[in-house]
Amino acid sequence: MEKYDVIVIGGGPAGYVAAIRAAQMGFNTLCVDRFKGKDGKYVLGGTCLNIGCIPSKALLDSAKHFDHMTHSYDVHGISFDNAKMDVATMLARKDKIVKQLTGGIGQLFKANKVNYIGGSGKLLKDRQVEISNDEGTQVVQGEHIILASGSVPISIPNVEIDNQHIVDNAGALDINAVPEKLGVIGAGVIGLELGSVWNRLGSKVKVFEAMDTFLAACDQGMAKLAAREFKKQGLDIHLSTFVKSATIKNDKVEVVSEKNGEKTTEVFDKLLVAVGRKAETEGLLADDCGIKLTERGQIDVNDDCQTSVPNVWAVGDAVRGPMLAHKGSEEGSAVVERIAGQHGHVDFNTIPFVIYTEPELAWVGKNEEELKAAGIEYKAGSFPMAANGRALAMNETTGMVKILADAETDEILGAHIYSANASDLLSECVVAMEFKGCAEDLARIVHAHPTLSEAVFEAAMNVDKRAIHKAN
Ligand code: NAD
Repeated sequence: MEKYDVIVIGGGPAGYVAAIRAAQMGFNTLCVDRFKGKDGKYVLGGTCLNIGCIPSKALLDSAKHFDHMTHSYDVHGISFDNAKMDVATMLARKDKIVKQLTGGIGQLFKANKVNYIGGSGKLLKDRQVEISNDEGTQVVQGEHIILASGSVPISIPNVEIDNQHIVDNAGALDINAVPEKLGVIGAGVIGLELGSVWNRLGSKVKVFEAMDTFLAACDQGMAKLAAREFKKQGLDIHLSTFVKSATIKNDKVEVVSEKNGEKTTEVFDKLLVAVGRKAETEGLLADDCGIKLTERGQIDVNDDCQTSVPNVWAVGDAVRGPMLAHKGSEEGSAVVERIAGQHGHVDFNTIPFVIYTEPELAWVGKNEEELKAAGIEYKAGSFPMAANGRALAMNETTGMVKILADAETDEILGAHIYSANASDLLSECVVAMEFKGCAEDLARIVHAHPTLSEAVFEAAMNVDKRAIHKAN
């Protein structure tokens, strides 16, 4: 039987990073992944690279250019007679980016001497892994096993996904013509991002959200700003509205929803189901492998990602914590460092969150609602993008930065940014928080002028009511 120091099941951002890190540290490493690309061949990268983060960002970017062309280039004096979107070209560009990145992981595996087998991996007892693919079945032995099996979309009753009319996140990336009317179930991250893509390209988008609060996980001040902006952009978001059923009829989708006990029936060309994701463990665990699952079906792990079986670890979307690629990658690295006797650790307090709409909504740490609920005294500093010179020059004046700091110690407890490039702007706040920095620290760092980052600087100054370019 083939023996490895580390066997990683799953080649998404959690698994492939763990595998590369393990090989870098001198472990004889195998990565197994069963994801198949459109050509039917095994491909690395998991959900993130194939049907998640990367392709959705490619489409968001294409749609953003089209939207700017049709809605905001006129302020620059640029006009077009007949701006057209060729959806096939947009999809092909997205597929090319995916291919380049997923192929890149294969090259990184080769360069780092990570062994890779395309196929389904199942954990047996005694840290053996059964690998099945078209070539047959083999069993290999690992000293350590890392489970990084990711997540799959949740489905809801009476809404059957066929990925033609009723699509999940994967199907929504391959809609081959702009639907006149697009229904979206769920005003979460996927619903808002992919809803925005098609909205920018001209679809009339209606979003059904069961909860009565918009973006409940997000700072509510920022969520309100975002809600107003989405409305302006034409996203028709309905809260407290449950989708009861969706039926395909005459090449269209009939959706029945309920709000305050009242039922409504509407017809859409396509319906996107984005109601959350759940840990993927199907076919992963033999009955006698000893791995415990939580009530929510996630692989049960402790703070260090150790499972109920010694030397078997689990990371990423398959375990507790936010379902974010970067959280999974960090857990993958941290586990390998622990295997090597080091002290890898992921700080859940400083995991950045980003919704890649326009503007982007990004945050780290606590929001005002959480601080109030915890009874923590805090100071808030904010700065509007409309008062930032670079934002004005870029015609990107929507949004603001908000920094929350401890009332007594001035330590930064949270940062919330709703602006163009918020995802990148947030990084300095994450760094500051990781180093237990204060608002004063951010306010004393020289920021290049003119940059959007000056809004972060001014918000930090505003914590102590000494921003320069706004009344404090
Ligand atoms: P989500 O949890 O963000 O949002 C799902 C929404 O659907 C919720 O607000 C929920 O109330 C609503 N909902 C559920 N059932 C409903 C019903 N019957 N009718 C109406 N509304 C209903 O989930 P998602 O958007 O599917 O994303 C899944 C995961 O993928 C998330 O954990 C997210 O973190 C991750 N993701 C992250 C990014 C990013 O970081 N930018 C992008 C995409 C996905």
